[in-house]
Amino acid sequence: KPLIGVFALQGNVREHLAMLEQVGVQAQPVRRPSELEQVDALVLPGGESTTMEKLARTFELFEPLQKRIVDGMPVFGTCAGMILLANEITGGIAGQATLGGLDVTVRRNAFGRQVDSFEVDLAFEAFETPYHGVFIRAPWVERVGPDVEVLSTVSSGPATGRIVAVRHDQLLATSFHPEMTGDARLHGYFAELVRGL
Ligand code: GLN
Repeated sequence: KPLIGVFALQGNVREHLAMLEQVGVQAQPVRRPSELEQVDALVLPGGESTTMEKLARTFELFEPLQKRIVDGMPVFGTCAGMILLANEITGGIAGQATLGGLDVTVRRNAFGRQVDSFEVDLAFEAFETPYHGVFIRAPWVERVGPDVEVLSTVSSGPATGRIVAVRHDQLLATSFHPEMTGDARLHGYFAELVRGL
């Protein structure tokens, strides 16, 4: 059984751990470098990306995380976690650093202040029925590199066509919070990706 960590300095850590266990992998929180070394893969939850970056540096996880990503560790970034994985950010504060690895440009808080939070059903080729996406001050993906696969876009409302789920080799990212709806299919998709490596 693979061991998948959940970055546990901010975000819905317990929910992510529970969903990983539900899809049949072992899961543990990651707060220190020694815990990062133990895991085969990692979930980066939502939260606030600049705070998560600072916390990661304070807990001496930032550079070890970058190194693991370069070395090919699978990572599932959700919302702020997607921002942390992105090679480029737009609409962020000047000079905001990311871990990088995912060849996309994301726009922070992209859906606008009037619609801070919303929910919408999303189609995924891998799933037979739509996946209910919960968006909270979410980013969207504005540019995808040539090796990035778009897994889902918004299909109704003012944000129609916006990219909200992507995969770049072993890196998976969603704009929305997959731990909040009790639907473990994306955690299952990630677990399959980890098992397949
Ligand atoms: N707006 C947050 C950021 O820019 C992300 C919000 C979230 O993760 N729910 O980091």
